Amino acid sequence: MTVAIKFCGAARNVTGSVHQISTNKSNVILDCGLFHGPRDEYYRVNSSFSFNPQNLDACILSHAHIDHCGNIPTLIKKGFRAHIYCTPTTRDLCHYMLPDSGFVQEEDIKYVNKVNKRRGLPPRTPLYTKKEAERALRYFRTLDYHHTLALTKDVSLTFYQAGHILGSAVTVLDLADQNSLMRIAYAVDLGRTGMPLLRNPEVPEDIDYLIIESTYGARKHEDIREAELKLAQTINKTVRRGGKIIIPSFALERTQLIVFFISELIKRKMIKKLPIYVDGPLAVNLTKVFRANARDFDQITQAAFLREEDPLGYDNITYVHDVQQSKKLNDISKPVIIISASGMCENGRILHHLKNNIENPKNTIVVIGYMAKDTLGRRIVEKNKTVRIFGRPYELRSEVVVINAFSSHADKDGLLDYCRKSKNGLKQIFIVHGELTQAEAFRDNIARRLNIKARIPAKDEIVYLKARKID
Ligand SMILES: [Zn+2]
Ligand SMILES: [Zn+2]
Repeated sequence: MTVAIKFCGAARNVTGSVHQISTNKSNVILDCGLFHGPRDEYYRVNSSFSFNPQNLDACILSHAHIDHCGNIPTLIKKGFRAHIYCTPTTRDLCHYMLPDSGFVQEEDIKYVNKVNKRRGLPPRTPLYTKKEAERALRYFRTLDYHHTLALTKDVSLTFYQAGHILGSAVTVLDLADQNSLMRIAYAVDLGRTGMPLLRNPEVPEDIDYLIIESTYGARKHEDIREAELKLAQTINKTVRRGGKIIIPSFALERTQLIVFFISELIKRKMIKKLPIYVDGPLAVNLTKVFRANARDFDQITQAAFLREEDPLGYDNITYVHDVQQSKKLNDISKPVIIISASGMCENGRILHHLKNNIENPKNTIVVIGYMAKDTLGRRIVEKNKTVRIFGRPYELRSEVVVINAFSSHADKDGLLDYCRKSKNGLKQIFIVHGELTQAEAFRDNIARRLNIKARIPAKDEIVYLKARKID
């Protein structure tokens, strides 16, 4: 049996994960994520696929981050009529993530069309609407961890823990015909061992080919305890000078994680109890999904839930639903912590908070997540003197503190360790989901330390692989 893998997205790039796996009988894709980038490129890349969605037998989702699931509504608009498989928690999270993404698309196009009208240009349509995203949810089917499902005559699927976000999975495909078989594992995104809330990533046995991410292929995360200390010091310093702490955060996982850490700091009296606002309805809804799927947390967190403790520390926190309430946060002059989406500062309420606070040196912007190239978040991390928000320049005068340790991605050591544990029988590693410098550093590290063939496929590159013969 010959198997073809086509790396259709997130190849030498972080966002827009989608990869096609084909045998002569079946055709499936792993993930169907949104590519993030400058607007024109965003629409161009996301509105077409390098395969025919009508010919697919299945789409398998690793997790509910939008760069992995966010282009499913487009897939369905283009004729996909098979099922989308994921864990039950991923399905529940997508229930909010996808319609929210549709809403963001509609809002963005409203803004674009306002500008176009002024310039006498024709109006454009969104990539997909909230309604189209809601319709896409009908195609979802769930599979629990460690259960195996035959997707087609020659492809079966098993999910293992990825330890990246709640519900995330390392996808394993077993491809088999009468006399040969192949096992492919897709560890994109891959989490970290020993992080609070989540279970550790699992390494499936007997993998022939491993597709793995490389977001932090060249970087090592700070120690989580040191990061906690840095967060406490940053909050205390900002509070002393009477400033606000603004934390751009992904509504999914990072918000719940940072809330957990801040609550721990308050409990341990490392910072004083100050008001915390989580601004955005999506974060509220996703937090509800977390509670409803508590079985997926690690044992310590599950035990806390059973004791009716509050492991995610909701007591000190105000969840801000409506826009008026959100705007009122601007009037607060005393120190507060505002956690708001979007994580890369490309859209959402965080833009208002940045606009209102970025020019005040008393304030601190705490960056706790990955910022892709060409995003406002990256420009803030790089401490550009002036940044544009809503098309207007603002001086970046507030303090910027970057803490990468809260990352839900494995770092260079974690990635290498995962490859080492998968080593038995492993024929080749394919490195995706990383900027080229990160991917290359990871590849060199694999070559130096593990002596396994590793390749960084280009976008739309196809590799043909031979299955191993059954004795
Ligand atoms: Zn992710
Ligand atoms: Zn990702």
